[in-house]
Amino acid sequence: MNRGSAEALTALVSRQAISDAVFRELVEALPVAIYMTDAQGRLTYFNAAAIKLSGRTPELGTDKWCVTWKLFLPDGTPLPHDQCPMAVALRGDDVPTGIECIAERPDGTRFWFMPSPAVLRDGEGRIIGGINLLMDITDRRDAEMEAKEQFRAIVDTTPECVKIVARDGTLLFMNPPGLGMIDASYAEAMAVKNVCDVIAPEDRERFRAFNEMVCSGQKGSLQFDIVGLKGKRHHMETHAAPLRHMDGSTVHLAVTHDITERKHAERVSLLLSAIVDSSDDAIISKDLDGVITSWNKSAERLFGYTAAEAIGQTVANLLIPEDRQEEEPNILALLRKGERVDHFDTVRRRKDGSLIDISLTISPVRNAQGVIIGASKIARDITESKRIQAKLVESEARFRQLADAMPQIVWTARPDGYVDYYNERWYEFTGTGRFAFGDASWEPILHPQDLQIARDTWYAALHSGDPYNIECRFLDRRENRWRWFMGRAVPVRGAGESIVKWFGTYTDIDEQKQVEDQLRRANADLEQFAFSASHDLQEPLRSIKVYSELLTKRHSDKLSGEALKFMNFLRNGATRMEILVRDLLTYTQARRFDQPPEVTDANEALKTALANLSDAIASSGAAIKSGPLPSVAVNGTHLQQLFQNLIGNAIKYRSPERLPDVRLEAEQQTGYWVFSVADNGIGIDPKYKETIFGLFKRLHSSDEYSGTGIGLALCHRIVDRYHGRIWVESESGRGSIFRFTLPV
Ligand code: ADP
Repeated sequence: MNRGSAEALTALVSRQAISDAVFRELVEALPVAIYMTDAQGRLTYFNAAAIKLSGRTPELGTDKWCVTWKLFLPDGTPLPHDQCPMAVALRGDDVPTGIECIAERPDGTRFWFMPSPAVLRDGEGRIIGGINLLMDITDRRDAEMEAKEQFRAIVDTTPECVKIVARDGTLLFMNPPGLGMIDASYAEAMAVKNVCDVIAPEDRERFRAFNEMVCSGQKGSLQFDIVGLKGKRHHMETHAAPLRHMDGSTVHLAVTHDITERKHAERVSLLLSAIVDSSDDAIISKDLDGVITSWNKSAERLFGYTAAEAIGQTVANLLIPEDRQEEEPNILALLRKGERVDHFDTVRRRKDGSLIDISLTISPVRNAQGVIIGASKIARDITESKRIQAKLVESEARFRQLADAMPQIVWTARPDGYVDYYNERWYEFTGTGRFAFGDASWEPILHPQDLQIARDTWYAALHSGDPYNIECRFLDRRENRWRWFMGRAVPVRGAGESIVKWFGTYTDIDEQKQVEDQLRRANADLEQFAFSASHDLQEPLRSIKVYSELLTKRHSDKLSGEALKFMNFLRNGATRMEILVRDLLTYTQARRFDQPPEVTDANEALKTALANLSDAIASSGAAIKSGPLPSVAVNGTHLQQLFQNLIGNAIKYRSPERLPDVRLEAEQQTGYWVFSVADNGIGIDPKYKETIFGLFKRLHSSDEYSGTGIGLALCHRIVDRYHGRIWVESESGRGSIFRFTLPV
């Protein structure tokens, strides 16, 4: 029954086409609730079905507008009876078709119905009453609700994104998994003005066209990227179909799947196959029967078979030489147990029949359920590394042979300091077992006093990578005494400049040390002797001088002319000897000076030296010039002796053709000063430039130039004491420049 039926009934009633009695009988029999009202809405008739539906018996002439007890709109708001569809119709207004209402019975139960009001008019068209059919749609609504809920449950539980998008891009609905993909709450998602806002910019245009297509009634699928509200990108695949919306428009219903992982897996698998293909190693897979299932390019290169030739063949047939056939069943047995074969060095046969040394690493391959289904196998050509290893063994043997033949102790250590080799000499010397090496294996025989310095030097070198020399004592078990050794260690660097090994030697310097010691002692004794001798000689010399003078002065009348001449020789000889003894004393004392280093102003030292030389300067007419001089960490007397000897010589060895001109300079270098004393004297033949610094070494006789040959030796000794250097630059007749260095 519908609106048409109600109008047909009205027509029947108004045209009085049938009698009232027939009409009522007819209507009573109908299973649809029907009632009639007068123009004011008062009920004039209702059938049994109306009583059944409304759950009450209305009062004719009193109840108005409707047979129902209470009315509600679909959203649950109460609907007063005077606004019900029948009341609207009786007022002459249009009632839209398809209205659905809810009514409540007096017992509280509710039902859904669809009213179909129609009005009765008289001959002039005035409304004289109305007739209404109430169609019970509770069952349909319940079915609809159930379908809706089922849909909802599916939509909410599916892991995919389910969304509804309007043609203009407005998001009409999105389920929770969809909201998760765009990192939005339902409210945030609904606030997105256009769904294109969450589509990656580069895919927006394609998505817009796709939406248009679906809203025009076509199904389709599309892949695109989304950028969620928190900026996270996902790769999506959507399947969409057109859907008729409540307002009659066609919208876009889509089920969208996040395929980011799948895409990633695809990329990884592509990458993996690229790696497999570009690997230098042969990568082969086989099933548990040993049948080859994949074969990369390097496998082709290594074994000579193409993938087409190899795949489907068994490894045993294709690659394993006759005498190694038992290897494959063993390998397969291990794989079936889930075990891996690591770096198994073996031999395989190429297509051309030649044999090749390879190292195999085989791992079981499992399916998604974890069941072993085959193996992947990496074969590396080790021909070259075997060759290198053989060469290495050979060169190592040569090195050992050489090292064992050497008189020194030879050792090598790893970059971390672990001693990994000693030559025969070491084991002979220490008496330790043949394989005693390793960390600090040299410590037990080292002298306790040398232990700390040896350790410090070694560990510092390991850290810095610098070579070093060290002197230390090892216990000679044969003589049960300490022997001095000179240890040397140098790092051996590999191609990348990194240290690959340390190489070291210990050379026995015990005898040399003893000779040095004896020499030092002899020198000290000699010095002591020279000191005492020159000291003790002063007294008798003075006596000779004094008494020969007294003799000449007081008894000259008694002495012959020859005797007087001899007396003069005696006096001169004594004076020269006195000077010699004085100089010698100064020389022996130069090193005895053990005062702590002081800072001396070179200008002061020069002043004293010049004062001591004042007679010589005055008598020779020498000009002495000096540039600015520094302060140096040298004893004041030493510096003054240096200046005095060098300037004194510059005046003494002056040229007969010119007045002496002496110039002093000091120039700073890193860590020391270079002093120079330049003269314009007779100069020195370069072949004597070393000799003149020796003790008693003179280039002239004392008749030509007075002197003892000690002055420059003293200068050398003083400079040496401060670890400096002295040298001369000169040519005969051209003057000389003496230079010496002193610490800052
Ligand atoms: P001495 O001057 O007492 O002979 P030195 O040790 O001072 O002894 O000098 C050694 C020798 O070097 C001198 O005998 C001289 O021949 C030479 N000699 C030293 N200084 C000069 C100089 N400035 N010019 C030329 N010859 C020099």
